Amino acid sequence: MKRKKRLKIRRNIIIITALLLILFGVMLIREKIHKDPSPATEDHDDNVENEPVEEEETQFETGSGNEEEPEEEPWAEEPVVEAPEQGVVIENPEKTDVLVNRKRNLPESYVPEDLVTLSDVPTVLSNPEVNQMRSTAYEALKELFKAAQEEEGYELHARSGYRSYYTQASLYSSYVENNGQAAADKFSAKPGQSEHQTGLAMDITCEAVNYRLDESFGETEEGKWVAANAHRFGYIIRYPKEKEDITGYMYEPWHIRYLGTELAEKVYDSGLTLEEYFQ
Ligand SMILES: [Zn+2]
Repeated sequence: MKRKKRLKIRRNIIIITALLLILFGVMLIREKIHKDPSPATEDHDDNVENEPVEEEETQFETGSGNEEEPEEEPWAEEPVVEAPEQGVVIENPEKTDVLVNRKRNLPESYVPEDLVTLSDVPTVLSNPEVNQMRSTAYEALKELFKAAQEEEGYELHARSGYRSYYTQASLYSSYVENNGQAAADKFSAKPGQSEHQTGLAMDITCEAVNYRLDESFGETEEGKWVAANAHRFGYIIRYPKEKEDITGYMYEPWHIRYLGTELAEKVYDSGLTLEEYFQ
């Protein structure tokens, strides 16, 4: 009898312990749900959306993508180099007609071999890296600036040219940190996806917009002249108005891309973006 009783007590202890464990588990789960509601990330996104994104964008002036040059600040931080989420890696990045966008990535290691320092055109920034371009593009830029001066008396300035993969990585990660990824992706290229890494793109500006990169450049006399004449010198306005869905970037009247005169004139005459032209 004694033994049976002991067995019964032991069985009851086991059952009670099991019940307590289950109860404890349920409490843990409930607590976790309260602390960590799944819509948290959505709330965060909404906050980003609700913030005055447009105001933030205009603060950048450099607006998009490709724009903005790191003067000093981003250097301080360790760049977060992200692998491109999609797209292909371009095999011949040195070609003058190379197409770089959010689906076509330049190799991380690609640095043009014929970069030269801008020496005979007005520049804006002191960072030596962005005051570089590939030599053929630079020769054409000089002709473009000279024609603006001689034909109309306009003084164009070069603000931001070549940018390395790592500079773009540093810029992009500082935008993500400050504005969230959704906002950053509206105006900044991911590393490897910036045309500036080709050494064939230049952001240009003028005194009327305080030498900044702003959409209003497109409304200035200088900006209008560039849009109508850049192709004569082998350049196109790479990110035209209302083509964001195709190019992946908002309107950037200041961002010109060298293609050589033959192709630039064809693209200009077609009225298409580079993406559409190559399709
Ligand atoms: Zn640009």
